[in-house]
Amino acid sequence: MALIKEKAAREGKVNVFVTGAITRNIAGEELAPIGSLKQAGVVAITDDGHCVQNNELMRRALEYARMFDLLVMDHCQDYALVSDGVMHEGYWSTTLGLRGWPSAGEEMIVARNILLAETTGGRVHCQHLSAAGSVELIRAAKKRGVPISGEACPHHFTLTDAAIAGSEIFWRADGKGVFGFNDMEQRPAWPNYDTNFKMNPPLRSARDREAILEGIVDGTIEVICSDHAPHCDYEKEVEFDYAPFGITGLETELPLSLMQLYHTRKMSLPEVLARFTTGPANLLKLAKGTLKPGADADITIIDPDRAWVFQRADSGSKSKNSPFHGWTMKGKAVMTVVAGAVVWSEQNELAAV
Ligand SMILES: [Zn+2]
Repeated sequence: MALIKEKAAREGKVNVFVTGAITRNIAGEELAPIGSLKQAGVVAITDDGHCVQNNELMRRALEYARMFDLLVMDHCQDYALVSDGVMHEGYWSTTLGLRGWPSAGEEMIVARNILLAETTGGRVHCQHLSAAGSVELIRAAKKRGVPISGEACPHHFTLTDAAIAGSEIFWRADGKGVFGFNDMEQRPAWPNYDTNFKMNPPLRSARDREAILEGIVDGTIEVICSDHAPHCDYEKEVEFDYAPFGITGLETELPLSLMQLYHTRKMSLPEVLARFTTGPANLLKLAKGTLKPGADADITIIDPDRAWVFQRADSGSKSKNSPFHGWTMKGKAVMTVVAGAVVWSEQNELAAV
């Protein structure tokens, strides 16, 4: 913890907020020392990448977290239901002969979290939601005042599981085009079983994608995140079954969100930006994310209309595992200011080339 903070202060250009684990060694067997973690300065607890399967343990975690006013964030995955699934269980998993990761594997834990949040009064945040049923559960729970919140990633509301089949004809099947405003003709060709479309939770059906968008629009989902998961090429360049889950997403989350939500006129610009700023800040109880007088001068300047092509080779990340290689994007960050100082700008980057 101290090490991460020190490294962030020394090398990092942005604010880094650390989360603690829910269970020791994220093994899901006994609680981590939640009070000490809070004292050390964590902003939330999560076993992300893992999910606490023991409901009683999760209940105790929520009770402790409530005492310390900490948010509990959960990667919602029922291990028994998901088993060794690698893609959304549905038409395409059957067609492609890949093992299915059913929506119920996520919804089961979302429902569990709602019940436990209701029982304990502890606040639970469901991370990177992918399934329509999860959105519906959270929407209904919020109506009764349950302290539950949700989050979504651009890949889940931009792509569907049909991408793994690769063929363009499947994208046109529902007649609307799965990309929102993005011109279908500009979509680069990609092969079947491209492991850059493998993530956890998986890409789901067109109906799920619509439900996630609706959840963001009506405020059921208050946070958009990248779930950035870098992997080396050699790890991803294996059979679909064996490739690790996860994609990079930091550089594409803003344009994809603007493309799906703002440029399609589903939401206003301030509403979309709130999902990146005040949404997470309020949940983590951080005095961040606003431009009110007296607020910290942490600002990202964006050009919401800028058209540009995302190229893996130009990525600032060492990892290139993005499914959006070659896509024409609309919207771009052009300058980052942290505590009043410019820490990055596109202009300086271009000048340095
Ligand atoms: Zn996760």
